[in-house]
Amino acid sequence: MTTEPTASTDFIRNIINEDLKTNKNDGRIHTRFPPEPNGYLHIGHAKSICLNFGIAAQYNGLCNLRFDDTNPTKEEEEYVRSIIEDVRWLGFDWKDRLHYASDYFEQMFEYAVQLIKAGEAYVDDLTAEEIREYRGTLTEPGKESPYRNRSIEENLDLFERMRTGEFPDGSRVLRARIDMSSPNLNLRDPAMYRILHASHPHTGEAWCIYPMYDWAHGLEDSLEKVTHSICTLEFEDHRPLYDWFLDQLGVHHPRQIEFARLNLTYTIMSKRKLLQLVNDGHVNGWDDPRMPTISGLRRRGYTPDSIRNFCERIGVAKTDSTIDMALLEHCIREDLNKRAPRVMGVLNPLRVVITNYNEDQPEELDAVNNPEDPEAGSRKVPFSQVIYIEQDDFREDPPKKFFRLAPGREVRLRYAYFITCTDVIKNEAGEIIELHCTYDPASRGGNSPDGRKVKGTIHWVSAEHAIEAEARLYDRLFTREYPEDTDDEAGFAANLNPDCLQITTCFVEPSLAGAEPGSRYQFERLGYFCIDPDTSDGKLVFNRTITLRDSWAKIEKKF
Ligand code: ATP
Ligand code: MG
Repeated sequence: MTTEPTASTDFIRNIINEDLKTNKNDGRIHTRFPPEPNGYLHIGHAKSICLNFGIAAQYNGLCNLRFDDTNPTKEEEEYVRSIIEDVRWLGFDWKDRLHYASDYFEQMFEYAVQLIKAGEAYVDDLTAEEIREYRGTLTEPGKESPYRNRSIEENLDLFERMRTGEFPDGSRVLRARIDMSSPNLNLRDPAMYRILHASHPHTGEAWCIYPMYDWAHGLEDSLEKVTHSICTLEFEDHRPLYDWFLDQLGVHHPRQIEFARLNLTYTIMSKRKLLQLVNDGHVNGWDDPRMPTISGLRRRGYTPDSIRNFCERIGVAKTDSTIDMALLEHCIREDLNKRAPRVMGVLNPLRVVITNYNEDQPEELDAVNNPEDPEAGSRKVPFSQVIYIEQDDFREDPPKKFFRLAPGREVRLRYAYFITCTDVIKNEAGEIIELHCTYDPASRGGNSPDGRKVKGTIHWVSAEHAIEAEARLYDRLFTREYPEDTDDEAGFAANLNPDCLQITTCFVEPSLAGAEPGSRYQFERLGYFCIDPDTSDGKLVFNRTITLRDSWAKIEKKF
């Protein structure tokens, strides 16, 4: 199994290498990550973040963090804060280059005036609906607006009055004057400004006209002297428009490169749809550990390293594809295997009384903290007469390949002793409520005293010392690989997994007392767990990050 990602090249880095050879932009490399603050970041954004900041780091360049905040009705400060936190948590630093598109509103307005003066933009009084009708289709050319040939003076006057708030929302737009019969619909006189009397999180009441994304985005990159504007494939058809704007204005012209967005099985990846999950109460918020958001993954127990490693492994390509969720899960297992201390916890307790153990003699046994990390050392785990083991680790009638505890059978308690089951105690309903076992004092530490072998090793906790805690066990949020593949009216919501969260009471070893939210552990034999921020005085809450079994390791060769 390959464990280390290899530094790879890709079509984007190839383009950059070519640009460096010709000394384009004087050899500068400047990228940016430009989120719209209308939701929390998801794992797809992580791909873009790792790509943009990664390229800047690799080429000794710069990468800006820029909020594309041109749509005040959908944008909020909460989103700005979360995005800043998430990018930083992933391990990237934009230094003093945190920008807001709204800081450029004045400059954008002046650029628009420049286009009007050049006869390249006009104020249109058609309604939104009429504009749609006039636009034509892929097979039919559009029709020119009757307002298209207004004089420059009239356009300047109207645009200025749009700005000063004279006209109601939606009554006019400023449009670029390009070509209503262009085969590329984006070039059919696209809107540059709309009237919207709305307060903006950053500029307040200063503006009642707001730039459209397609007008603003290229200008933002140009103003920041970005050299390579890396974006996802859906913007390929918009590139001729961005080129047109920049060429008309005669300003710095970044090179736009499109790559395929990340899609993941069992996942939806759009802020709009994730917001729907939050608003409809299917999850408990943007940072619910079932969400594919960065904040959800963090709360679930993912590490920044595992996400960066995942992004490196998937690479970048020019055609759309869907990555198997199992690869992301493999990356977190691989990382936690190296770094997560091992502890013992029991999810479904079965009481075991060790009948020949002296109840006054509780003792402490040595347990290895992490077999993958010799420096991690060991800790003491208390042992006593009554312990809990996992219900699944006992079978009254064991099937053939079941090597754990059964009547008359001997197993090893991890780090403790060999025990043998002597009695099965049941309640009136016939359910097993307790086992009686004997232990072999000579097997202390779990070592065989005389070379005799036991086939099973199971985990346990001492009943009197264990801490009761809450465990939240997650499964995939959707039952289908492609959640959006559905004829159901409810859309992807029809494919939500009703069993994606199971909450149970568990018992953990006392070394976990006082553990901090965010700490990650391997519960031996059960999986990786992370302490949830809901943990409060006296009550530990664990999120299961991922189980131990890794189906990806087998198919990883492909990557
Ligand atoms: P969504 O469709 O989820 O709402 P978006 O593209 O509208 O995402 P932006 O805030 O505009 O969200 O995205 C910021 C950057 O992240 C953009 O450059 C965008 O191309 C990139 N990005 C968004 N989704 C993905 C994805 N799934 N894979 C890779 N990059 C993405
Ligand atoms: Mg967007």
